[in-house]
Amino acid sequence: MQLSGKTALVTGSTSGIGLGIALALGRAGANLMLNGFGDAEPALAQVRALGVKAFHHAADVSDPQAIAAMVQATEAAFGAVDILVNNAGIQHVAPVEEFPVDRWDAVIAINLSSVFHASRLCLPGMKARDWGRIINIASAHGLVGSAGKAAYVAAKHGVLGLTKVMALETATSGVTCNAICPGFVLTPLVQAQIDAKTEGGLTADEARRQLLAEKQPSLEFVTPEQLGELACFLCSDAARQVRGAAWSMDGGWTAA
Ligand code: NAD
Repeated sequence: MQLSGKTALVTGSTSGIGLGIALALGRAGANLMLNGFGDAEPALAQVRALGVKAFHHAADVSDPQAIAAMVQATEAAFGAVDILVNNAGIQHVAPVEEFPVDRWDAVIAINLSSVFHASRLCLPGMKARDWGRIINIASAHGLVGSAGKAAYVAAKHGVLGLTKVMALETATSGVTCNAICPGFVLTPLVQAQIDAKTEGGLTADEARRQLLAEKQPSLEFVTPEQLGELACFLCSDAARQVRGAAWSMDGGWTAA
């Protein structure tokens, strides 16, 4: 299998996109360190059922020391972090002048600073082994804005900038760094935005359709499985010269 013998650390992989990516990497043979809040047992069971080794570390990625402990634990368990998927993220929606300062700080810490911290800690080992893959889960909101999402849009644009810098700093090595920019994926993060619309009187179906119609020309959600396959491609030898890319998978959102 393509990724046998490799170890992947996927932040925020107890649910949603992170879990979809972890499962795809596991199917390709990679051992996994999962991370994220909540009961990790269902996610661990799904990954282990693929026949690969998997553990969970509960680091809160808003805390740089917790990230360091998670990277160390992964190296202790598996010997290396070969693939780092920076996926953990949160959302908060409010106009700038009403945006709670603590929510701004949390979104920047979890969606942007954690990418810097996890990457800076994994890069030395990747460079020493001359092989590594850093995949940052940005967003269509890394390329365009939306009203009400100041912190998220700022963080995701920052992730794309950081991705480019890390790609340049590793350009002559076997380490690559890229970002994936999903459109809407039906995960708990997006369900919360649908729930907000149903509180305004729409049915769940109407709310889902309205959310898609506002942004995503395909009128279909992107799936965690599709994003997992793209992550596997970025880990392949064929993707060795894909460096610093902001790879959209967004149903046409940013084509408009
Ligand atoms: P989700 O809410 O389903 O999952 C988020 C994961 O991150 C969970 O495992 C959660 O426990 C974990 N997490 C949250 N805060 C954390 C913290 N402080 N420390 C450690 N783990 C933490 O969300 P999702 O939709 O799967 O989003 C995953 C990523 O994809 C995020 O970066 C998000 O911005 C991005 N994204 C999502 C969509 C979408 O439509 N769902 C679109 C574009 C980009």
